[in-house]
Amino acid sequence: MERKRIAIIGGGPAGLIAADALAQHGEVHLYEQGRSVGRKFLVAGQGGFNLTNSAEGETLKAMYAPPGFLDEALASFGPAELRAWLQEMGIETYVGTSGRVFPVKGTRPIDVLQAIRDRLIARGVRFHLEHAFIGFDAEARPIIEHAGSRATVQADRVLFALGGASWSVTGSTGHWVTHFASLGLDIAPFRSSNCGINVQWPAHFIAAHAGKPLKNIRITAGDGSILGEATITEHGLEGNAIYPIVPVVREALERGEEAFIHIDLKPNSTAEHLLHKLSGSTPADYPKALRLDRVQLAMVKAVTPKERFFSPIDLVQDSKHLRIAVTGLRPIEEAISTVGGIRPADLTPAFAIARYPQLHAIGEMVDWDAPTGGYLLQGCFAMGHHAAQCILAAR
Ligand SMILES: Cc1cc2nc3c(=O)[nH]c(=O)nc-3n(C[C@H](O)[C@H](O)[C@H](O)COP(=O)(O)OP(=O)(O)OC[C@H]3O[C@@H](n4cnc5c(N)ncnc54)[C@H](O)[C@@H]3O)c2cc1C
Repeated sequence: MERKRIAIIGGGPAGLIAADALAQHGEVHLYEQGRSVGRKFLVAGQGGFNLTNSAEGETLKAMYAPPGFLDEALASFGPAELRAWLQEMGIETYVGTSGRVFPVKGTRPIDVLQAIRDRLIARGVRFHLEHAFIGFDAEARPIIEHAGSRATVQADRVLFALGGASWSVTGSTGHWVTHFASLGLDIAPFRSSNCGINVQWPAHFIAAHAGKPLKNIRITAGDGSILGEATITEHGLEGNAIYPIVPVVREALERGEEAFIHIDLKPNSTAEHLLHKLSGSTPADYPKALRLDRVQLAMVKAVTPKERFFSPIDLVQDSKHLRIAVTGLRPIEEAISTVGGIRPADLTPAFAIARYPQLHAIGEMVDWDAPTGGYLLQGCFAMGHHAAQCILAAR
């Protein structure tokens, strides 16, 4: 059977796994504008490096929006398959707290990336570093620029894996949007996801408490509610209890509505129980009776009128449902991920662009969303693997 020539443009997780799957059956050329591949993958490794999550089946699918878009890809390449793929390369993983999957202790992010790179090299993938995609020719073939010269890519299929638009230093600049718009695609604008929220704290509160954590809190916004922790920042709040409620906040702000979150500072106690604790106490003893620490207390005081502190009912209400106005989301550049990009409706089930079936788009450049906790990388790897399998099946 004739070997297909495949071009992959963008060397992040989505592009790398697609290259691996396709290199077994075709001639694969991987073009990357940077001097090295996987730079955002390495950034992801600087914090808690969640390679995937142990969630399965419907629980896993429910983490992704729009509903159903990634179902097929996740069914064929879910967390178990991703962990097995890593294990084939000698990367052992383990399931940590909240189901997050990490590389075992001692394995650095660069080791994971190196293992993937070594495997691709062994499979004959040809890397073209410092080769930037700069647009399409009249026949919708990509044009690549390298060292001042331009060339049109000749390939049977092209997989684009150009990333979203945050952390541009890693190469995910989102500059590709104008090129795809020139094909007649209506690209969804990029917006921050998995990012901090802006809150107008009083200056004295920032001076005293920015950088401090709020542990074991429940944050609710709209129908969403999440237990976790957050960090107070000079701009507002960040952290794993904040990121999952960002979509609800973003939608409210985009509708021009006021956005609020509610913080339960005492998620393990009912309001009745807390009220009972205050009976017989004087206001000076309330914080101790409720076990509100200094940061929690300062936060309640920062966002509620002073007199509420003297009323047991109001103070309990504020400890259980502290209402905080959100004035915006942190800028795209700072966000862990972005939404926006190629619209799912413009793609076939094989993630090919319906009007240009020889061109595929995978990973964060497509407009889907998922929370942190390993779901982002899982989504990118699943898309890359699935697109590759569809291309192979269509030979
Ligand atoms: C701080 C931080 C922490 C994170 N932590 C986690 C985590 O723990 N778990 C998790 O699941 N996810 C995490 N993520 C998200 C995850 O890293 C991304 O979702 C993932 O890297 C996206 O993969 P991708 O292949 O779609 O795109 P990217 O990784 O963004 O790669 C796109 C590639 O395309 C290249 N490119 C772009 N334009 C061009 C062009 N014109 N020509 C040629 N090449 C081009 C870029 O240089 C880049 O190498 C984190 C992200 C950040 C920023």
